[in-house]
Amino acid sequence: MFTIAGTRKETQNVDTMNVDFELVKKYNVPGPRYTSYPTALQFRDDVPARSLLCVMRDDIVACGNAVSLYVHIPFCRHLCWYCGCTNVPAGDAAVAERYIIALEREISLRKNELGSELIVQQLHFGGGTPSALSPEQIDRISDMLHRAFRFAEDAEISVEMDPRTASREVIAAFRRLGCSRASLGVQDLNAEVQLAIHRVQPFPVVRETVEALREAGFSSVNFDLIYGLPHQTAESFSKTLDGVLSLSPDRLSVFSYAHVPWIKPQQKLLERANAFPSPDEKLAILKTAIEKLTRSGYVYIGMDHFAKEGDELATALRERRLQRNFEGYSTHAGLPIVGLGMSSISQSARSFSQNEKDLDGYISALEAGTLPVVKGLVLTEEDCRRREIIMRVMCDLELDFSAMGRKLGGIDFAEKYRDSLEKLRPLADDGLVEFCDSGLKVTQTGRLFIRNIAMAFDAYFSPSAAGTRHSKTV
Ligand code: SF4
Repeated sequence: MFTIAGTRKETQNVDTMNVDFELVKKYNVPGPRYTSYPTALQFRDDVPARSLLCVMRDDIVACGNAVSLYVHIPFCRHLCWYCGCTNVPAGDAAVAERYIIALEREISLRKNELGSELIVQQLHFGGGTPSALSPEQIDRISDMLHRAFRFAEDAEISVEMDPRTASREVIAAFRRLGCSRASLGVQDLNAEVQLAIHRVQPFPVVRETVEALREAGFSSVNFDLIYGLPHQTAESFSKTLDGVLSLSPDRLSVFSYAHVPWIKPQQKLLERANAFPSPDEKLAILKTAIEKLTRSGYVYIGMDHFAKEGDELATALRERRLQRNFEGYSTHAGLPIVGLGMSSISQSARSFSQNEKDLDGYISALEAGTLPVVKGLVLTEEDCRRREIIMRVMCDLELDFSAMGRKLGGIDFAEKYRDSLEKLRPLADDGLVEFCDSGLKVTQTGRLFIRNIAMAFDAYFSPSAAGTRHSKTV
């Protein structure tokens, strides 16, 4: 029989976290981030787009036509050398114009395919750099979306911004569109690091952007930081965190830099500085970040995310309403996501579909009057069951076997997933999970290794093939 030493209070408290170096070294292996299950690696290009759209339409109807929209704006004014996003250089006005016209065609085709009664509960602009658009272009896109869809009164609208392009006029245009949440790419405040990564944005630029956002009425500001970049040390990153904390962001994402120049060739330019932190130094930076942020009143939500005590994400974690999707953690339970723009991924209860990643391919498909869906997946019942288990363990940090068995159609959970639970025994021995009569709980220590814990329930994961496909779990 499994035994448990912790309590719920212990596994979900918001106190300071301490990071055990030896455990990090042992469990820092390549593995999925589980923004979806199955992961995008399982998407296939031989599933007809029509089948994917039919499944999605039925799933949307089952949700009372409520959806979340994602709009991808691929343009960037400057190329950051560490970047792993799908982007294209801004600057050619004709290309931007063709893209916006293509986007308008996609909105119209999606509406025809998915039904005209869609109600938008959530809208997110990602990139690339949405703030690279001009105020006039933002107003046009706003007009397209508001004409095509009905927005819920309390719709949550958010945007990713680059402090170097987020002028007061751009901020005002996104505010007119209804945006109240912004996520700023900050990465690091150290001048030497900024030079080495080809992203120079001195602290006053970030501070002025935050002030402009708050003056414009944005209620939530998130910062993205990256650790593992050239010239970073635990000491230098600690100073960056001091600067960041002085601006009091509501949420923080602290991502590990993944160096994959064979996939993103411009990352090779980072090697010029010959100054990447050693693996031990990188872990020391992570330890500094987690300990400093949790000591400063931020709740460690999970994976790379932190939120102020009282923020919706922290409340949703406590109340077990968190969800994961392609944007990370979300408080919007299980809404289908309609992805618009090149490379966007749509998801519903039983389907995933992805748009063409190439700009010309995306625009050409729409100019020819067809949706640019190039691959996807219709989930099996077992995919749906495992997705539920992985999402609940990552968001609730515990599994009640009886409740989960009932939720998954009256199965004997412990029996059906015996193999997965066996895989977790060594992690229990290391104190990352605890078993009890009701099920399993992720310990405070185990939160840092949540991807490793989720991997035990992943039917597709192969450790031998993971190295070239996934980033490391910590
Ligand atoms: S990090 Fe952001 S701003 Fe920089 S190139 Fe990538 S998408 Fe563009």
